[in-house]
Amino acid sequence: MPKRALKRALDVAPKEKAPQGAVPVAQKESLPAVTSEPVRIPTLATGLHSAPAQPVFNVLDRIEGDTLGRIREDLGECTRCRLHTTRNKIVFGAGNEHAELVFVGEGPGRDEDMQGLPFVGRAGKLLTQMIEAMTLTRDQVYIANVVKCRPPENRKPEEDESGTCSPFLYRQIDAIRPKAIVCLGLTAAQSLLKTKDSISKIRGEWLDYRGTKLMVTYHPAYLLRNPPAKADVWKDLQKVMALLGLQVKKK
Ligand code: URA
Repeated sequence: MPKRALKRALDVAPKEKAPQGAVPVAQKESLPAVTSEPVRIPTLATGLHSAPAQPVFNVLDRIEGDTLGRIREDLGECTRCRLHTTRNKIVFGAGNEHAELVFVGEGPGRDEDMQGLPFVGRAGKLLTQMIEAMTLTRDQVYIANVVKCRPPENRKPEEDESGTCSPFLYRQIDAIRPKAIVCLGLTAAQSLLKTKDSISKIRGEWLDYRGTKLMVTYHPAYLLRNPPAKADVWKDLQKVMALLGLQVKKK
């Protein structure tokens, strides 16, 4: 993408220089470890109806040979938490099963709930621009959310809702085995990292999610309200591009 078009897509503040190319990740920051204890997955395929008020982040055993298809089957017409009572469609996730890059958002909004697809509303359009600025397409990445059903009034998912739903996200990430994960906003970061830190503290640095590099950046919906933050997001995405060996197309 030409440099000017790229700047326009992300509406980067003028003082932000467009990147000249990818920087080897080895020259970048060291990786703060975010560790956790391995335990088993006892309930994923079962039809749990009550919320497992358990720290599901500890669900760390990989399921050998797991696939997105099998995970979708296990999810079924989910009624495991209260969000099923108000949803229209389950938003499982979309994209490439072999993606090197996975984006994780918070939960479906109105448009996503209607279409059954993640990030198809206004914030989704901006996410698409972000992906394209990285010289990728939506078909090349995978996009999912912490919860797969729309929270009423687009409120944040409750702890028991994300606790019930996120094991399916963890399985999706395990099945895809991406090189990098981008958490869009604090809800996604909290689900994967179990951190209590603020987004300003954790964004923009490489973190570790069970051996996979994880970058936290601002949610596109936040960017719609705070366009100047796009410059920070673009910096974060350039780090991801460097890791994936992607270079901004020159004119
Ligand atoms: N916001 C999200 O976090 N996810 C979506 O899928 C859409 C909007």
